[in-house]
Amino acid sequence: LNRRLDGLGTTIFAEMSALAVATGAINLGQGFPDTDGPEAIREAAVRALRDGRGNQYPPGMGVPELRTAIVDHQRRFYGLDFDPDTEVLVTAGATEAIAAAMLALLEPGDEVIAFEPFYDSYAASIAMAGGVRVPLTLRAPDFRPDLDALRAAVTPRTRLLLLNSPHNPTGMVLTRDELTAIAELAVERDLLVVTDEVYEHLVFDGEHIPLISLPGMSDRTVSISSAGKTFSFTGWKVGWVTGSAELVAAVRTTKQFLTYVASGPFQYAVAEALALPGAYYDDFREDLREKRDLLAAGLRDAGFQVHAPQGTYFITTDIAALAPDLDALTFCRALPHQAGVVAVPNSVFHDHPSAGRTQVRFAFCKRKTVLAEASERLRRL
Ligand code: PMP
Ligand code: GLN
Repeated sequence: LNRRLDGLGTTIFAEMSALAVATGAINLGQGFPDTDGPEAIREAAVRALRDGRGNQYPPGMGVPELRTAIVDHQRRFYGLDFDPDTEVLVTAGATEAIAAAMLALLEPGDEVIAFEPFYDSYAASIAMAGGVRVPLTLRAPDFRPDLDALRAAVTPRTRLLLLNSPHNPTGMVLTRDELTAIAELAVERDLLVVTDEVYEHLVFDGEHIPLISLPGMSDRTVSISSAGKTFSFTGWKVGWVTGSAELVAAVRTTKQFLTYVASGPFQYAVAEALALPGAYYDDFREDLREKRDLLAAGLRDAGFQVHAPQGTYFITTDIAALAPDLDALTFCRALPHQAGVVAVPNSVFHDHPSAGRTQVRFAFCKRKTVLAEASERLRRL
């Protein structure tokens, strides 16, 4: 393994999900729903397979039906307009989009500012592109970004900001004021911004505002999202990029040499999913809100300090009071054996692990009976 990837051996999700299988514990670690997405959308995938749509290489930019559905979605929810032929690119999940964006946009040695804790593929993607991470720490209890620190972190080597809102793992959702300040900084210092918006439909308090909708941002933002979270099909790996024709073409260039294309039949199904009525999106969010509240209450009862999330399907907790001598990684490795529950330590999402030393993340995208049982087990800890 090349030295750029030192320390990035096995993802925490693989480690903890394997532990869940080995111990039979309830998996509140890796973020995937335990209920699949809508039956009608699964049927759409079956129909595509049966009708021979997408069984051979789809077009490099994605099938036209999906690109059009993405454009319609961006217009419906955000009033944004994109050209489906040049400003939309379908990818193998958001993960590939992030990697392709880093590979396309960074020169070796370019600095990338990202708020830590960050989703683990960020560190790897920046490293693979030869970039230099500049992490800015989001601190408990509310994990708001420090905008003065952000301003001070920009150097002549800074090429781009990699932003994630709603934010995994903290559940923080950037406000319009924060986004405005970030946009102004990007314009002033001539930065690109890559925005990871995979939890765009999981905002419980506040609203999701795509950065690309703010003044000056349309030509310097690469927006990324994915069907995995919004439609509960994380295994389908259908994601997308929207942005200016120039930036999308850059990302397409690297993407075509990573996978070329992916997920043929599923692209047709996701096109149908994106067109679901508003009630689907509302019900999905309200269901997750109830689950958030259920697990938050259970965790509090069990002695965890809960940092209630505004979005995503994760709750970050602090274990300092519950397990005074343990760091989060040690705690999470023991938890399946001691309580029959799997969680993930936020510390692994940090370049400065001390900031997340006692923070543990639980996923609540699980059936209510499962969340109740997990809460009960944790209470007995
Ligand atoms: N970004 C964030 C913040 C995530 O939590 C995830 C995990 N699903 C991804 C990207 C990856 O999305 P996908 O599964 O579409 O590759
Ligand atoms: N995004 C999911 C999470 O944060 C997991 C994705 C993965 O396993 N790579 O839990």
